[in-house]
Amino acid sequence: MGEATPAHIALVNVRVFDGHRLLEPDAVVIDGPVIGAGSTAPEIVDAEGAALLPGLIDSHVHVYEQADLHRLAAWGVTTGLDMACWPAERASALRAAVGTADFRTAGLPAIGAAGPHSCMPGMPSEAVVRTPEEARRHVAARVAEGVDYVKGVAEAPGAGGPDVETLQALAAAARDAGLLSVVHAITTGAYATAVASGADIVTHTPIDGAIDPSDITALAGSSRAVVPTITMMEGILAGPRPIDGLLANLRALHTAGVTIVAGTDANTQPGPPARIEHGSSLHHEFELMADAGMSPAEILRSATTVPAGVFGLTDRGQIRPGSRSDLVLVDGDPTTDIRDTRNIRAVWCAGVPQRLS
Ligand SMILES: [Zn+2]
Repeated sequence: MGEATPAHIALVNVRVFDGHRLLEPDAVVIDGPVIGAGSTAPEIVDAEGAALLPGLIDSHVHVYEQADLHRLAAWGVTTGLDMACWPAERASALRAAVGTADFRTAGLPAIGAAGPHSCMPGMPSEAVVRTPEEARRHVAARVAEGVDYVKGVAEAPGAGGPDVETLQALAAAARDAGLLSVVHAITTGAYATAVASGADIVTHTPIDGAIDPSDITALAGSSRAVVPTITMMEGILAGPRPIDGLLANLRALHTAGVTIVAGTDANTQPGPPARIEHGSSLHHEFELMADAGMSPAEILRSATTVPAGVFGLTDRGQIRPGSRSDLVLVDGDPTTDIRDTRNIRAVWCAGVPQRLS
């Protein structure tokens, strides 16, 4: 990509998504990296009544190179929350990328000695935590690298993951360092471990059955959030097995009032069980969330205001003066048909117009 020059324009005749509905046509000023006050600028762009959404946040991606960030941005995903990235130099380079999707990362995840992650190609042995003390050392090392949150991998009891006490120590050490903790769980047993760990965010949805109602109750009665990544779970189940069970789990979480955050597990490298395209996959996830009974406005919030709140990204997630000018302009009305998020006319990352795919 060439020089990343932010726009200074007034977008007129746009219908702004306010978190609930599309407002009457109005003007929004892109004042470089932030949204300006007022309604005029030297350059006027007529949006012809298109819908303006806050830039989308994918709360579970894997980013390896800047091209992944460009692909996210081309699909309106202006923030990618990476859930495993090493070495630290790679994370630093991605963090420094400008004029594209904004990158945040957990750095190296904390895994068990004998779970599936320990067999992933290229997984450093440094990722393994066997004891609470090793979990605390893991968090200290990640903090020294400047991670944005901490990630652990839970398995069902006896399936080779860290035990509950070790994951509890991971979550507590993260909290003491002022960071959130995210725990991966793809089976019902792992979900129980993840919930018991006290981690702030549980990512994925069990593929082997219904989440225990007591785990759902525990999540619903707290400020904790779930990033279901149905897209990845569907990929793992690829073949004859239907995804009804995945949708039933999401429906149960949502109905109980658990905070749901959109994420895909997008990745392009060997290791993960299914390859998930960056960017386009978030729109697929939206459609699966709709299939599980979430309303279009709830789905849009799950990729804008909700993750901004959960992850403390206070400068984005809403269209208001002073916010980052992370914006997506789409045709149609995604508050009535979520598939309209695919009708992208333009994307800005901190004001920088993006080349669409
Ligand atoms: Zn992942």
